[in-house]
Amino acid sequence: DLKELLEEVMEELEHKASKRDMHIKFEVQPDKHYLTNGDRQKIYRVCQNLIFNAMKYNQNGGEVQVVLKTHKNTIQVDVTDDGPGIPPEDLKRIFERFYRVEKSRNKKEGGTGLGLAIVKHILEGHKSKISVSSTVGKGSIFSFSLPLVKSDSMEDKHKAATL
Ligand code: ATP
Ligand code: MG
Repeated sequence: DLKELLEEVMEELEHKASKRDMHIKFEVQPDKHYLTNGDRQKIYRVCQNLIFNAMKYNQNGGEVQVVLKTHKNTIQVDVTDDGPGIPPEDLKRIFERFYRVEKSRNKKEGGTGLGLAIVKHILEGHKSKISVSSTVGKGSIFSFSLPLVKSDSMEDKHKAATL
């Protein structure tokens, strides 16, 4: 359940966020289910890397938004920040191992430059891919999709509850 998984990730990072006066906003439809197939631990790692990056490179007081939505047969996860953004010339390289944008290298925040390479690798293993759109001075959006698994028992429960 991607909703439950994301809630866990946000709970884990909440302490770090509040220390920097940041908000993580979660946008999700409450009565929907977001079941997918995959390696839970690995998908957890993907979400943790993306949300942690969105916080790490943002200024204090910044906002991170996590949006979960379904399309026909897929669930989409968007992680949006209103941080510094990534210059176009760096954008195509951030998924390479050890690549860090020059500015981040000079900042005090540590990092090895492996996070996004791992994200890409894990999603490839799930027949998915990571996409990014970024504007310098405005922020970034990282997105990926996984298959939506229909749960008959859940739909039945829902029907029973609304009858
Ligand atoms: P690690 O994740 O291994 O601790 P890292 O965060 O530097 O280190 P990646 O997560 O792979 O490595 O990110 C690569 C680079 O992309 C970062 O160094 C940073 O320059 C840039 N980057 C990633 N996410 C963002 C973001 N949300 N906003 C701005 N820059 C980002
Ligand atoms: Mg990282």
